[in-house]
Amino acid sequence: MVQGSKRFDVVVVGGGIVGLSAALEAQSRGHSVAVIDPGIATGRASYGNAGVLSRGSIFPMAAPGIRARLPRYALGRDVAVRARLRSLPYLMPWLVRFLLAAEEGAWRRAAAALDPMVAQAFDRHVALADLVGGRHLIRRNGWLRLYRSGDAFAGSALEREVLAHHGVRIDCLGEDEIRQLEPHLAHRFSHGIFFPDTGSVESPGELVELYRAAAGGRGAEFLDCTADAIVETEDGMAVLAGGRSIEGGHVVLAAGARSAALARTLGYRFPLAAERGYHRHFELPEGVELRRPVYDAAGGYVLSPMNGKVRLLTGVELALPDDAPDYTQIEAVEPDARKTLAFTNPVEEKPWMGSRPSTPDGLPVIGRAARHPRLVFAFGHGHIGLANGPATGAIVASLIAGEKPPLPVEAFSPARFGG
Ligand SMILES: Cc1cc2nc3c(=O)[nH]c(=O)nc-3n(C[C@H](O)[C@H](O)[C@H](O)COP(=O)(O)OP(=O)(O)OC[C@H]3O[C@@H](n4cnc5c(N)ncnc54)[C@H](O)[C@@H]3O)c2cc1C
Repeated sequence: MVQGSKRFDVVVVGGGIVGLSAALEAQSRGHSVAVIDPGIATGRASYGNAGVLSRGSIFPMAAPGIRARLPRYALGRDVAVRARLRSLPYLMPWLVRFLLAAEEGAWRRAAAALDPMVAQAFDRHVALADLVGGRHLIRRNGWLRLYRSGDAFAGSALEREVLAHHGVRIDCLGEDEIRQLEPHLAHRFSHGIFFPDTGSVESPGELVELYRAAAGGRGAEFLDCTADAIVETEDGMAVLAGGRSIEGGHVVLAAGARSAALARTLGYRFPLAAERGYHRHFELPEGVELRRPVYDAAGGYVLSPMNGKVRLLTGVELALPDDAPDYTQIEAVEPDARKTLAFTNPVEEKPWMGSRPSTPDGLPVIGRAARHPRLVFAFGHGHIGLANGPATGAIVASLIAGEKPPLPVEAFSPARFGG
């Protein structure tokens, strides 16, 4: 807990993978750091994701061809994407931008912008995990996308072309090769794409807790509460939280899907949607194993091995920010997922729900605020925030130090949304 009215070099709002990575990187430059976060582990997307540190995830959701699928999503005919109809008026400004971004040229440019960061994701995680004793939680086991027909696989041709352009290694697999990699999957997949340079995290929640403990061990102070507003002071910024004002030379806004609401307290309006996802763990029978995360393109779910169990994860649900969880989507994918892998009893009574902080163009928002140069935005990583949290932390720390960022960041500029 923060004591007295101390002033910090850096005040980070949000203790997920992005905020903690920024905190650790700032500390490594000798800065004093405070982290403001409610301290509820399961309240973070960083806790409940699929754990994939994907080398191939350079594609925004706003992809060519998605416009044609919208009626299916809106009518609830696609298990991978579900929209609660009453949320649509609220989401409309985001959706309009999303649809504008779903054009091939913009999509290719976004992939090119993401590629340098995504290329470093695995190594940056390992470097950070090494620092905090978390290396055992990270494996280089690849990631497998599975298709049930040649036609479905053919639909990935454009993505494969762009991956090849950026030098991302993939292996296209047939039925037998899939079986060799994953002997316990049912024989329902005719084609697969294997990403050998991808890794995964055995337990993302545990890794985040290690990062939190490491930041604490290096002197970061944690204020376990919710920030209400960010304000400018004479010589820096301050965060109003828990009835107090926490002052900092710099403030980093890394509150995941809730970041836009806080940015608004200073007049910035970012289009940020919470793309919800659900997960639940299941037991595996004796002798049955899953060796790496797999995505069933037709089933719209991911299965990810976690600590001897399997985590079943859903695609996207669009809802109002404070809507209660609705387990329809995870209940819909579970029977199909059971046909893929013979898992047994659920571990938890209820599934977990979390929110991917998503911009319409699929690029994160990383950079100094236009009117408040001591405020650094670091949010909006959508589906790839676990993987790219450490790289983002390094960028944030370099911006604070006035150094050249370690990666090209122009495309992530808040300025594209007027911020
Ligand atoms: C189902 C699912 C599967 C996913 N799979 C993957 C994957 O395999 N690989 C991958 O790379 N990414 C994946 N993601 C995405 C990834 O989890 C997110 O992009 C990433 O965790 C975002 O990190 P963050 O630190 O920005 O946000 P979060 O982890 O959500 O952390 C934000 C923190 O800010 C806190 N906060 C919010 N409001 C306030 C406030 N007002 N004051 C103070 N604190 C506040 C929250 O409580 C939280 O602790 C997945 C996401 C989901 C939902």
